[in-house]
Amino acid sequence: MLLDQATAEQLKALESELTAEYNAILGKNLSLDVTRGKPSAEQLSLSDAMDGILDGSYKAGDGTDTRNYGGIDGIAEAKQLGSDLMEVPTANIVVGGNSSLTLMHQTMMTAYHFGLTGADSAWKNIDTPKVICPVPGYDRHYTVCEQLGIEMVTVPMTASGPDMDAVEALINADESIRGMWCVPKYSNPTGVVYSDETVERIAKLGQIAHKDFRVFWDNAYAVHDLIDNPPQLASVFELTTKHGTENSVLQFASTSKITFAGAGVAFTAASSENLAGLKKFLGACTIGPDKVNQLRHAKFLPSREALMSHMKKHAQLLQPRFDAVLSALSKAFDGSDLGSWETPVGGYFVSFDTRPGCAKATVKLAAEAGVKLTPAGATFPYGNDPEDRNIRIAPSVPSIEEVVGAMEVFVVCVKLASVRQALAA
Ligand code: PMP
Repeated sequence: MLLDQATAEQLKALESELTAEYNAILGKNLSLDVTRGKPSAEQLSLSDAMDGILDGSYKAGDGTDTRNYGGIDGIAEAKQLGSDLMEVPTANIVVGGNSSLTLMHQTMMTAYHFGLTGADSAWKNIDTPKVICPVPGYDRHYTVCEQLGIEMVTVPMTASGPDMDAVEALINADESIRGMWCVPKYSNPTGVVYSDETVERIAKLGQIAHKDFRVFWDNAYAVHDLIDNPPQLASVFELTTKHGTENSVLQFASTSKITFAGAGVAFTAASSENLAGLKKFLGACTIGPDKVNQLRHAKFLPSREALMSHMKKHAQLLQPRFDAVLSALSKAFDGSDLGSWETPVGGYFVSFDTRPGCAKATVKLAAEAGVKLTPAGATFPYGNDPEDRNIRIAPSVPSIEEVVGAMEVFVVCVKLASVRQALAA
């Protein structure tokens, strides 16, 4: 149905039909949650064999006793895992603790306060350093900037990644742009994989941007494919080498959604200059990361093949949930003017754009009907979605039946919010 072509009478009839449907849902007393993108208990159990895997052998290959202090870089075996995951040479990898978000926060803090390449390079040396945020995007990236007092400027996400014309125009026009957030594969929340052209243009930004400009390449979903022949992300590492812009990109990843979300291993990959700057900061925070956990991860995932076959088990659990979301959206909205969405083949999210001005109302209706969605606006800096359109759906934790149930409610709420808004217009 096309709302734009409906008469007032048709809209009124539709509203009472949908209100009846919605009231019937209210009677079911549902309690469903499709908010945060975390692994389900079943997914976590795929890695239970890590428990006890060391069997009393705590020595790394080079003889390091992983139980002791030290090793700010991470052990060699864990660097190999990072290299298998990020497809970057081990020499360019630092292995951290359990969270890539922590590494991103620490890296941005280093860039801001201390400078990644010495005090002269600190972003705080200028009044208002700014970071480009493709929107919709990941709320926790915004929180890092907010906490450090870094201004965020938005650019739209497209089906091939950030709008690169807008990114280049901003950098050319504003000397104070110092950084950019990117989730290049199965982007949070749109599920988009950056095209080869986009990756190459990002790799070349170092040629036009200020020398202290850094891309924060958060490859959280590097191996999180749902299909057999997944899209390939171009190597930003190789492209920055090709264009002589090695210092302009720092990459991040972790095993949070590979093994245990709360007890994984996180990685940074970057040029030796950037790593030196980061390690100086890290060395002031800790005598060394949890190398026992690094070693168990390396034993559990000893090669790229082992990693990829482990990820296939995750895909088997996730794929039916994504199918449930996508088929509900297709069935309800194909050929309508009620919303638009991408069809991700990996990652943790499906993101839905309502008609302008309908996201908050949809989320509210769903909450009142017992279906918790991520708050509207969360996918934009300062919680402000200027068009009030974007809603992020995270189907990994609920059972397939629960996802189906949540989507039945979601669809009715989108329709009702849209019709009510059209009537009020
Ligand atoms: N980056 C993105 C894009 C994410 O979606 C998430 C988890 N929701 C994270 C980072 C968090 O990663 P970690 O657990 O390694 O801190």
